[in-house]
Amino acid sequence: MVYSILKKYGIRGGSLDQHFLVNEPILDSIAEAADLQIDDIVLEIGGGIGNLTERLVARAGRVIVIERDPRLVAVLQDRFHEISNIEIIEGDATKVELPAFNKVVANLPYSISSPITFRLLNHGFEKGILMYQYEFARRMVEVPGSKNYGRLSVDTQYFADVRLLRKISPSAFTPAPKVWSAVVEVVPRPSVFEVKDEQLFFRVVEAAFGQRRKKMKNALTKFNPPLADREAILRLIPEDFLGKRAEQLFPEDFATISNIIYEVRDN
Ligand code: SAM
Repeated sequence: MVYSILKKYGIRGGSLDQHFLVNEPILDSIAEAADLQIDDIVLEIGGGIGNLTERLVARAGRVIVIERDPRLVAVLQDRFHEISNIEIIEGDATKVELPAFNKVVANLPYSISSPITFRLLNHGFEKGILMYQYEFARRMVEVPGSKNYGRLSVDTQYFADVRLLRKISPSAFTPAPKVWSAVVEVVPRPSVFEVKDEQLFFRVVEAAFGQRRKKMKNALTKFNPPLADREAILRLIPEDFLGKRAEQLFPEDFATISNIIYEVRDN
């Protein structure tokens, strides 16, 4: 069926991250993981030919799909023209105004993984079941000490509890991508530690992992714009943190450092 749809609408796939998930048990498991109820409003990013959408409209109260490719918007409109609980928005999910929703379920276009994830996290929702490239998913969920632990892990875990649910083979898609994928559960919650200035916290994390082989003491010299009161700040940061590399620090340790910078600057 996939091939006949693609042929009918003149779509070859591949561009715009168009790899359609065709493995039925995996499609079912993604919809099931979202635990959809009749009062849920689900956002799907990149509806494609509607294989996942079909499962979402059957389970949720309402489904809103954002799809960038007008040819796929036409496929979705044809496929769901008799379905009343769906709204299809043509546009770029990183730019269009996001509608109100409480769950997000998507086999994401991998080229927008980072901007769309943080856009969604800043918007807020109850639960997300999202497919990413496997390496990206690993970086989201990792903890200090792992080689995949980095800026993406700290920034993501600041906003949400994240869990890698399953690794997916390229053969589950048509056309098959070159990379493996993974399904991640994202459950936003208030930060579990105090951050006095969010933007400052993210900049500390960026500076620290920008110099990930260096000890924090040296990594902070690359802070942009430079820290005016660097010596005073370094005196207040626990010695234990200054002697470690970014990959050894927990997210709350970066909060401690950014809160010290905030206090020194403010006085
Ligand atoms: N949901 C379908 C599935 O599971 O088979 C398709 C997933 S495919 C990996 C990604 C989809 O996102 C494609 O349909 C592509 O056209 C669409 N897309 C790519 N970039 C987009 C963007 N910036 N905003 C919205 N949709 C986008």
